Amino acid sequence: MTALQSVQTLELRREVRRFLSEERARGTVLGRPDSWLTGWHPEFSRRLAERGWVGMALPKEYGGGGLGFLARVVVIEELLAAGAPVSAHWVADRQAAPSILNHGSEEQKKRFLPAIAEGRCFFSIGMSEEQAGSDLASVQTRAERVAGGWRLTGTKKWTGGAHCNDYAIVLARTSEHEDRHQGLSQFIVDLRAPGVRVEPIRLLTGEHTFNYFHLDGVEVPDGMLLGKEGDGWAQVTGELAFERSGPERYLSTFPLLVAVVRELSDKAATADQQVRLGALMARLYAVRQLSLGVAAALDEGRPADVQAALVKDLGTRLEGELVHEVRRILPVAADAGATPGTYPELLALALLHTPAYTLRGGTNEILRGIITRAVEHKEQQS
Ligand SMILES: Cc1cc2nc3c(=O)[nH]c(=O)nc-3n(C[C@H](O)[C@H](O)[C@H](O)COP(=O)(O)OP(=O)(O)OC[C@H]3O[C@@H](n4cnc5c(N)ncnc54)[C@H](O)[C@@H]3O)c2cc1C
Repeated sequence: MTALQSVQTLELRREVRRFLSEERARGTVLGRPDSWLTGWHPEFSRRLAERGWVGMALPKEYGGGGLGFLARVVVIEELLAAGAPVSAHWVADRQAAPSILNHGSEEQKKRFLPAIAEGRCFFSIGMSEEQAGSDLASVQTRAERVAGGWRLTGTKKWTGGAHCNDYAIVLARTSEHEDRHQGLSQFIVDLRAPGVRVEPIRLLTGEHTFNYFHLDGVEVPDGMLLGKEGDGWAQVTGELAFERSGPERYLSTFPLLVAVVRELSDKAATADQQVRLGALMARLYAVRQLSLGVAAALDEGRPADVQAALVKDLGTRLEGELVHEVRRILPVAADAGATPGTYPELLALALLHTPAYTLRGGTNEILRGIITRAVEHKEQQS
């Protein structure tokens, strides 16, 4: 019996499904693809938090569930498979909370972690810039020392949720070194502070999720330096396993698979349609097993960044290929203007989001570089 089949997790899964049926009845859960990116619904996030389903992996002393990453996976698998609107608390729960727990001061932990677990404090990631995506160490945002803190100047790009979240964790250069990986630091920046300016970048669907995030001399107090000055690179790369390995890296388009199965259940599916659906499910199952391996490693405190890169490469390719395969299984004209929740509408949404799957969180070419270097290193050692 795997950890995810234990009596407690099966009961937890049933509980989440009951909650989701209630939410479906009130019209909150619409079965949309990519709901972790575009489904911003703070009240839904708070209702989840009331049930203890935000901050589940955080220690109880900081308001969390003390339950570990595998229990969290049970809940988020169900939420993503249902296409629930989870984007408000997504980054705070997945990334900001473990970062603050691992690197934050006691004051930061007490201030932010309980608020995150209550679903009332939302975070953005302020890493990428115009010329610093894959080559993140070339960030141009500067933090200079001022009395009592730092002054941040620069422009971040692709900052999801900066127009509606509360804080961003910003990577900025605090000193110059020949080795560009040195002299970077992380800061917790209040997104409503003077000098913060947010400019929308629209998705192909017209949705507003991303932004340019301008920091025009934003003053950040000393207490909001996250971790040690100059340790930003190690801190950022240490977070990658949290960012790259979860179910959102292979389930973004799962609701479309649910929609096509629903459509086919009204008709008699042909043998070819059944085989193709079966093949998709088998691939999903394999990536899921890999992802669970990373969650188990995180629970045990083992490093998992290479495995996480593998999950993300395989998973994000699969979630894109799923859209095209589903379209071959049951051809219809994708139509973004069709009734929300119908197969043509969901197909259009998933198609328009497809270019992003393999880019966000580090492109697949970069991930393969990480995997190749790890394999070479292992070969050299053996
Ligand atoms: C939907 C979406 C959401 C995002 N959300 C956020 C966010 O919230 N916060 C944030 O900070 N960032 C975010 N990003 C930014 C994301 O991390 C970057 O887009 C990504 O790291 C790639 O950087 P880039 O866009 O600058 O492309 P580039 O780095 O310019 O890459 C362009 C192409 O060149 C390839 N390439 C680059 N270097 C190499 C190399 N050494 N070897 C082989 N190929 C290479 C890449 O694989 C890619 O195909 C988001 C991006 C997207 C699309």
